[in-house]
Amino acid sequence: MEKYDVIVVGAGVSGLLAALTLSKHGKKVLVLEKSRNLGGNCNSYMVDGFQVDTGAHAITHLHEGPLRRLMDNYFEYLPVFEDYGHYYLRTEDNFMKVPSNLKDFVTFDMLPRKDRVVLSQAITKALTLSSFGFDLSGQSVYDSLPRNLSKDTYDFVDTISGFLSGKSMKETSAQRVLSGSSFVRDSITQEQFDVMIGKIEPKRRQSTESILESILPYNLHVSLKARVNRVSQPFTSLERLATNRVHYSQGYPRKGLKSLLNAILYSMPKTVDIKTECEVKKILVRDGKVFGVEADEIHQANLVIHTGFASDLPKLIKDLPAPYVEKLKEIVHTKSLSIWLGLDRELPEFNYTGSEIWFKDFPYWAMPISNYDSSLTPKGKQLVGFSFVIDENKSEKSEKKKAYGTIFRALPEIEKHIEMKHEQIMIPEKAAVTIDGYFADIRAPIKNLYIAGTDTDKRSMGITRAAYSIIELLKILNEDGNLY
Ligand SMILES: Cc1cc2nc3c(=O)[nH]c(=O)nc-3n(C[C@H](O)[C@H](O)[C@H](O)COP(=O)(O)OP(=O)(O)OC[C@H]3O[C@@H](n4cnc5c(N)ncnc54)[C@H](O)[C@@H]3O)c2cc1C
Repeated sequence: MEKYDVIVVGAGVSGLLAALTLSKHGKKVLVLEKSRNLGGNCNSYMVDGFQVDTGAHAITHLHEGPLRRLMDNYFEYLPVFEDYGHYYLRTEDNFMKVPSNLKDFVTFDMLPRKDRVVLSQAITKALTLSSFGFDLSGQSVYDSLPRNLSKDTYDFVDTISGFLSGKSMKETSAQRVLSGSSFVRDSITQEQFDVMIGKIEPKRRQSTESILESILPYNLHVSLKARVNRVSQPFTSLERLATNRVHYSQGYPRKGLKSLLNAILYSMPKTVDIKTECEVKKILVRDGKVFGVEADEIHQANLVIHTGFASDLPKLIKDLPAPYVEKLKEIVHTKSLSIWLGLDRELPEFNYTGSEIWFKDFPYWAMPISNYDSSLTPKGKQLVGFSFVIDENKSEKSEKKKAYGTIFRALPEIEKHIEMKHEQIMIPEKAAVTIDGYFADIRAPIKNLYIAGTDTDKRSMGITRAAYSIIELLKILNEDGNLY
């Protein structure tokens, strides 16, 4: 039997990024995936001549976020990202850009003027507090607003919260909205990354500040430092109140979502073996230390990285500590329904690139993805994906019926142009960022067992969050002496 350094459970974007990065650090890696296809939630496939994605996707933080760091450092082939475009709001009689800064709010007449003033004040206050270091992750969006706003305004805020966290405004933290709306930007510099993976020593700070510290009398230096810290940092994020663009640094992969998956696979060294239709049923532990997994057969390795649901771990390992098992039960997630409609022509309603949001009653987020790339459809046709957050306690049939009802209400013309219908029910992220929701640690309470994926990192969302979790994994493996 072949002996591996690392076994990765799951071949979604997190598992494949783990395999890619670890193999480039010299490890021999085996990836085991239970389904027939690779990519998990990150893939595309053909339905009646239309190429649909696994849910409508915007890839975020492409300039300096974690995926950018991983692409720059480990990819041999890079996907091409088309400029994302804009976010729009649709109502029965209006279609306009989503406001993402105070200037936009002034002209955003879908909501009453008084409410816009109040919303602008709430954002300014939250961003000011966050910039001065106050943690708003325990404060709900709802609690950050006054009580006398119109129903439309609450629906609008609830919808934006829902798309950012998967849950309502009462369960979504104010911090989540600030980061998800790009007011607070996710980034990781190459230098920070190199320090995390142990490539370079943390720089001893030879900043202006430390030079001043060495030459100025103490009292003078302290007051200067206070001024630098308190004034310049808040200003850089506060100025976004005026200039923020919610679609900043976002893109859609040319040729569809699968080209991101393909770029990872093309970059994978030959030292990585991947097996599909191979479900891991047990993670094997001896003397408190992991030594392999049971799948189609026993596979042995010194390290195991689990990228399925962390909440599945108690099924895979006997005798996990009870408090750990209890904590894992606190992870919450949401279900999504995506409806792909292949249209017999390009409709004027979808004459844009980006996405649109419907925020009344049953909100959707829709993307006409063939506007980025006409090769995703047969000639002259159009492909639009609509995603809904659905109620897990209701039947899928009734949620689908309601979803179609909403689409036809929002876009009455569309029904007579539908040539292809395709539905997907998925779990977009393994943990929703709610106020009380739990996230698992990368280190499991068993030596050499690690967890990666969207239930281990609260930052950002989706693929960007998966990439953060991989960077954090590399950092922790490095700290544990397991990276090199
Ligand atoms: C409708 C929708 C819209 C989305 N929109 C966006 C977006 O706009 N932007 C964005 O960045 N992200 C978006 N996402 C989220 C993004 O696709 C996911 O967060 C990301 O792909 C998750 O990757 P992952 O590898 O962590 O998890 P997954 O894709 O869930 O992969 C986990 C893999 O592990 C396998 N597995 C699990 N258990 C086992 C086992 N025991 N043995 C073997 N294999 C196992 C599973 O089969 C799966 O393939 C969206 C998702 C959906 C559904």
